[in-house]
Amino acid sequence: MPEEYLVFKGGIYMELVNKGTECPFLCWSCRKKFFSFDCPHNSIPFFDTILFEKLIQTMIKKATQIKTDGKLVSARPAVKAEIPGTIFLAKENAGCPKADVLVKEGDHVNLGQTIGMRHASGYDEPILATCSGTYSGLEKHYYRNGKLTNFLKIENDGLDTYDESVRERSDEDIASLSKEDIIQILKDRSVTGLGGSSFPTYVKLDTGKNIGTILVNAVECEPYVCADSLLIRDEFDSVVGGIKTVMQALDCHDARICIRKKDVDLMNFCISGLNELGEHDIVVCPVKNFYPQGWEPALIKSALNLEMEEGMVPEDYGVMSFNVSTFWAIWKAVKYNLPVYERYVSVSGDGINTPTNFIARVGTQASSLIGQCGGFKGDKDKIVVLGGPMSGTSIQKDDGIITKGVACLYVADSVEYKEETCIRCGSCVMSCPVHLQPVSIMNAMKSMPVDKDKVKQLEPLKCIECGLCTYACTCGINVMDYVKRAKVVAKLK
Ligand code: SF4
Ligand code: SF4
Repeated sequence: MPEEYLVFKGGIYMELVNKGTECPFLCWSCRKKFFSFDCPHNSIPFFDTILFEKLIQTMIKKATQIKTDGKLVSARPAVKAEIPGTIFLAKENAGCPKADVLVKEGDHVNLGQTIGMRHASGYDEPILATCSGTYSGLEKHYYRNGKLTNFLKIENDGLDTYDESVRERSDEDIASLSKEDIIQILKDRSVTGLGGSSFPTYVKLDTGKNIGTILVNAVECEPYVCADSLLIRDEFDSVVGGIKTVMQALDCHDARICIRKKDVDLMNFCISGLNELGEHDIVVCPVKNFYPQGWEPALIKSALNLEMEEGMVPEDYGVMSFNVSTFWAIWKAVKYNLPVYERYVSVSGDGINTPTNFIARVGTQASSLIGQCGGFKGDKDKIVVLGGPMSGTSIQKDDGIITKGVACLYVADSVEYKEETCIRCGSCVMSCPVHLQPVSIMNAMKSMPVDKDKVKQLEPLKCIECGLCTYACTCGINVMDYVKRAKVVAKLK
């Protein structure tokens, strides 16, 4: 297997085939025997075993291998992006459907000042200014879920005047912080998961469970994204500071920085960095190379050889994981009382003139970063994706906003989208890491009226939006899009 290919689930697939017990195609439901000649859906017309195996091999290749990007921007150091004249901060977000704005139009705000409060059921999430300037009301832009969303607009005065809450803590002060103190700081500074979840870190940390192992998710398995690996190289001491803070809060003495086996240089960099710092409770943990290895259950399986049972969470096993950039943010909050006002972002893809890694101000418009990359390449229409090419969301225009959870902006030439009729090949089923039946979900969504009971029964809420079903689809169908819409239906009462 060439190094540039990542393998996912091929073994499981062949195991099924070798067992010869169950049809691997979409009609799982009928539970007919493998090679059954009386398949009610005529899905298995391949009586020739050799031909059949060949087809399976082709399907495995399509469904389980993701080519890594030969044109990755990882070799380029991250550069500070220009700080735009206007900054946009989401009022509501995917987790918090309600929010209050705590400033009036025309008010002066400082970097780090709390200017709003988002509300979810069960927790609040402050909105902190990421520059100083004048609050000038709300404006709609695209959020990373692809929806037009209200954003608070700050006219940047270019001074970056810090709010009085921003202050440095001494090492002694930090060493004396209790778990409750750390949780309060992370809440006040609105630190959230920077790997894409955007879930408040203080809520996650506020567990009553004993945590024996902390996993640092530095896997970054999605093609075109390399923001985390650059952050590790630039900010290693801060990352370690964040890890030690979480260990202190949880009274944990085992932390593992999880890096793909193929990233040998990065692993060596971290090992020598830890040696220099004399850290013995933090180690480097090589994990597998496939996508989605960064998905929490897959990470835990690889790092700890622990298979999570359905309905359980990592804390039930004494494990907690955070993205590596979240540890950087934790350290900035604890050491300087700073919010997440900037983040590493890879701007990449074939549709951009000069793919670049940026340290960008949170609240920057996508168009600004694209402009700093020399703009779009060529005359063809472009597709702009907020997030990585697998799990990101394409937006209609380039005015999506870089929020805390956006690690990548992917730009590609737009191709005419022609959805062919599903041939019931089962590739999407075989590629789904959470064992859903994306094709069945799609069919339930296509029924008129939508079969809500069927949709719920197929459990689309388990979907982690990895994009593998779309990637694997033989007929170019955006299967994940149907599953995402099914999630909305499944939430209806
Ligand atoms: S996007 Fe959802 S349904 Fe599709 S493969 Fe990933 S987890 Fe499964
Ligand atoms: S949706 Fe695509 S991958 Fe899934 S069964 Fe149909 S053709 Fe195959």
